[in-house]
Amino acid sequence: MLQLTNDRYTIGGVDALSIVERFDAPIYVYDSATMKRQYERMEGAFKQVKRLRINYACKALTNLNVLRLFRGLGSGLDTVSIQEVELGLLAGFDPHDILFTPNCVSLAEVEEAAAKGVRLNIDNISILEQFGTLHPSVPVCIRINPHIMAGGNSKISVGHIDSKFGISIHQVPHVLKVVKALGITVEGLHMHTGSDIYDAEVFIRAVEILLTAASDFPDLDYLDFGSGFKVAYKEGGIATDIEELGDKLGRRFNEFCGDYGRELELMFEPGKFLVSEAGYFLVRTNVVKTTTASVFAGVDSGLNHLIRPMFYESYHHITNISNAGSKKRIYNVVGYICETDTFGVNRQLSEVHEGDILAMANAGAYSFMMASNYNSRFRPAEVMVHDGEAFLIRERENMDDLLRGQVAIPSLERSTHEVEA
Ligand SMILES: *Cc1c(COP(=O)(O)O)cnc(C)c1O
Repeated sequence: MLQLTNDRYTIGGVDALSIVERFDAPIYVYDSATMKRQYERMEGAFKQVKRLRINYACKALTNLNVLRLFRGLGSGLDTVSIQEVELGLLAGFDPHDILFTPNCVSLAEVEEAAAKGVRLNIDNISILEQFGTLHPSVPVCIRINPHIMAGGNSKISVGHIDSKFGISIHQVPHVLKVVKALGITVEGLHMHTGSDIYDAEVFIRAVEILLTAASDFPDLDYLDFGSGFKVAYKEGGIATDIEELGDKLGRRFNEFCGDYGRELELMFEPGKFLVSEAGYFLVRTNVVKTTTASVFAGVDSGLNHLIRPMFYESYHHITNISNAGSKKRIYNVVGYICETDTFGVNRQLSEVHEGDILAMANAGAYSFMMASNYNSRFRPAEVMVHDGEAFLIRERENMDDLLRGQVAIPSLERSTHEVEA
C-alpha cells in the first residue's frame, strides 16, 4: 500500500521515490503483502466451506514472481490461453491446479492443454462434441452462461443474452444429450458473468441458476462461480462485500452439497480482487502546461503503458508523491501519445513541478498486461516489493526488444544503402 509517513511515501514499507531512483520511471510496482492480504481475506470469507479453491485468474498479471507468490499461498490458476498454461507450469503449478477457461479457441489448443494435463473448461457445444468424440475419457467442466446482468462496463459484462461467453443455460438439455451420447464425464460447472458484484443477493440469483443445472449432472466434483469481485477505486468507493458474500453463499453452497449428496469443491477465479490494489504505476512529469482552460501535467507514459482509462474509462487515483503536503491544485494528467491520451481529469494533486513523480493506483490488474509498444515506445519495468525489499522482476525494454523478430527484405535493405551512398 502507498503510505505517507513524515512527508515520504512508501510502498510495502519501501520508499517509493527510492524505487524510481534505482530503476527509473515509468515503472510498475507491486506490493506482495497486498496480494497475500487479499488472498487470505477471500479464504477467510469462505471459511465455512470445507473444500474451497481459489484459482488466480492470471490474465490480470502473469509475471512469474506473481504466479509463484500465489502458488506459495495455496492458490490454483485460471488461464485463458495455452501460453498462460505454459507460464503456470513454468511457475511450478501442478497441472491439476490449473483450469483452462478459454473462449473461441481452436480444438487444437484445447487438445494441447489436455495433453499437458490441465483441467478443461468447455465454453461451446461444438468443441464439446469434437473434443468429446476424440477424447471421451477426459473429464471436463462446462461453462454455463446464466444470463444475469448486473452493472459493470458493457465491455466487461459477459453474462448477458447476446454474449459470446459460455453455453446458454437454455442449452443445458442439448449439453446433456451430447454428454450422454459420447459418455463424457462432466466434473465441474462454471459461470463467470464478468459483472461487478455489488450485491450478494443478485450474485446468488445467478448461483441459483447454476445450482439448478447442477442437479442434472451426477458426476460433479466442483462448482466454479467465476469472479466479479470489485475493489474500490476511490476512498469510500463501492466494492464487493466479500465477507457478506462468503457468509450467504457459503451457507447456500453447503446446503446444496447436502442435497446433492457429495461435498463439492467451491471454486472462484478472481483476478482484479487479488492484484489490482497491489499495483502502482509511477510516472515522471515531463511538462506542466497551462492553457486557457486547464493545467495539464504531461507525463513520460501514456495509453501504451496503461490503457484502462482510455479503454474502459476506469478511474485510477493519482497522487503526486514528490511533493507531499504542499498546496493542492487541479490538473488534467495526460500522456505523451500522439492522440487523446488522458489518465485523469480535474484531479486535485499536490502542486506538480516538472520532474515530479506521480503514482497511479489500482495498477496491478490489466495494466502492465495490456501495455504495448505503440508509438514505438519501450514497455516499462516491473518491480515487486517483497518482505520489505524491492526486486526488479522485469527489465525495461530496449531497442533490441523493438527490433526482435523483424525480418528485412534484402532488396529494400540494399536500396536504403544505395540512397545513403
Ligand atoms: C478475466 C476472467 C476472470 C477474472 O476477472 P476479474 O474481474 O479480474 O476478477 C475470471 N474468470 C474468467 C473466465 C475470466 O476470463
